[in-house]
Amino acid sequence: MRKLLIGGNWKMYKGVEETIKFANLFKEKKVSTEGVDVFLAPPFTSLVDAVRIFKGSGISVGAQNLFWEDEGAYTGEVSSVFLKEIGVDWVIIGHSERRTYFGETNAGVKKKVEKALQKQLKVVICVGETEEEREEGKAKEVVDKQIEEGLLGIEYDAENLAVAYEPVWAIGTGKTPHPEDAEEMHSIIREKLGAKGESIRIMYGGSVKTHNIKDFICQENIDGALIGGASLDVDGFSDMINIAKEIKC
Ligand code: PEP
Repeated sequence: MRKLLIGGNWKMYKGVEETIKFANLFKEKKVSTEGVDVFLAPPFTSLVDAVRIFKGSGISVGAQNLFWEDEGAYTGEVSSVFLKEIGVDWVIIGHSERRTYFGETNAGVKKKVEKALQKQLKVVICVGETEEEREEGKAKEVVDKQIEEGLLGIEYDAENLAVAYEPVWAIGTGKTPHPEDAEEMHSIIREKLGAKGESIRIMYGGSVKTHNIKDFICQENIDGALIGGASLDVDGFSDMINIAKEIKC
């Protein structure tokens, strides 16, 4: 049995003040996360406060990126060492927005994943096809390549790695694949992961909201959700945790 994993990616939203406000409201709501793993990934500038204020709330804190070197002349970058130093647990690597706007490649993703795991950070590696690739019938091929070039060959414990299948055309658009189509992609990804595949959590991401989360996480090979826009709202995010916690499919 794989424990459900619910993650929130805040992207470039919520500075320190709003992060603290969210965390206080979340704590006031006394949402139990028992039986579900939950993390939130705020922007870098909010991480120190997020780690402090979410402590004991059942929510772990993640970063949205890192660089593969420990330190050095890499202007603007943040290393795994720095993230560990402040108590960050998770890191999202290879999100499609990083691939699209910042030129991240599968080779770069692999170096980041390797370093993060070496430093005992838990990793969510994001994969997913664009609309054009899907229309051309290349979705499986693209995701296969992302896993092969971005992950395979790295040594890790299955519990420290999760994959997020995020079709690019579903991110922030309100469009979603049919849960059964997402399930098909998840089972392909699981197979590609090899011997450890059975234990690795594969999250679905792309316009997950309170009204559709159940449809996705009830699929056999969908072990949680990576939530962007809908994780910014404390009530909505709490509701989704509750849905995951109490789920009966
Ligand atoms: C994401 O940023 O990973 C994401 C899935 O965004 P959204 O839920 O807003 O589509």
